Amino acid sequence: MWLGAHVSIAKGFANAVKMTIKMKGNTFQFFVRNPRGGKARALEAADLLEAHALMREHHFGAVVAHAPYVYNLASTKEQIRRFTVHALKEDLQRLKLMGVPYLVVHVGTHGGQGEEQGLSLVVEGLKEVLVEIPAQTQILLEGMAGAGTELGYSFEQLAEILRRCDDHPGLGFCLDSSHLTGAGYDLAALAAVKQKIKQLLDWSRVKVWHLNDSRFPLGSRKDRHAKLGEGFLGLETIRKIVCDRELERLLFLLETPNDEAGYAAEIALVKELRKQAKML
Ligand SMILES: [Zn+2]
Ligand SMILES: [Zn+2]
Repeated sequence: MWLGAHVSIAKGFANAVKMTIKMKGNTFQFFVRNPRGGKARALEAADLLEAHALMREHHFGAVVAHAPYVYNLASTKEQIRRFTVHALKEDLQRLKLMGVPYLVVHVGTHGGQGEEQGLSLVVEGLKEVLVEIPAQTQILLEGMAGAGTELGYSFEQLAEILRRCDDHPGLGFCLDSSHLTGAGYDLAALAAVKQKIKQLLDWSRVKVWHLNDSRFPLGSRKDRHAKLGEGFLGLETIRKIVCDRELERLLFLLETPNDEAGYAAEIALVKELRKQAKML
């Protein structure tokens, strides 16, 4: 299985790989630029080469970039929408150079304009980015909890965006067990949720699963991650998720409130759950 955590690349890309190897992961996620949207650091060829050599040596899966939280394709402010489109284009070019195929992006918040208007703006912005998306990269729209005026909290909405972008091959999806819980999808009944995903989304486009427990209960519309087994989902539901044969191909990434040692412990925990289920 592909499993890792969200780590910093502040000390370089190769350093993020090394941290992941120490945690015994084989994939990771990082912010493509700082979460507040500042300038990305310059790419260094030696750092990239070292990172990729290490990833090959340690049999890594694909790695994943996450867009800054300030991006908002559905903003009421044109300036923010323009910035987001421009930055996404830049990020995707950068990721192509880095050999990173996926950019996870939050769908956006409509800020009171209403969902219809918000979704139209998201589609408009995405289309503009997608015309020049590098072939080796994909934007993964993240399913959200539906906090405040967040869009993309239902499979129907994610599917609508994909359809209105003419099923562009540059679009895929990222799901998050904490967000799904907030949005009202009961992962204790994993088979039923999977069936809905398959009915409404193009299953092959789901690439990433953020493996988080949720501090708040089902349908809370709140987005607060908890450590595995310490939230509403609990260890039994986490076990179902990580021991599911159909989910096995996904990239599982921890975004739990942890430091490096905490992530390492959770990676070990997930491996133990799979070992108990004879899945290793
Ligand atoms: Zn996210
Ligand atoms: Zn979240």
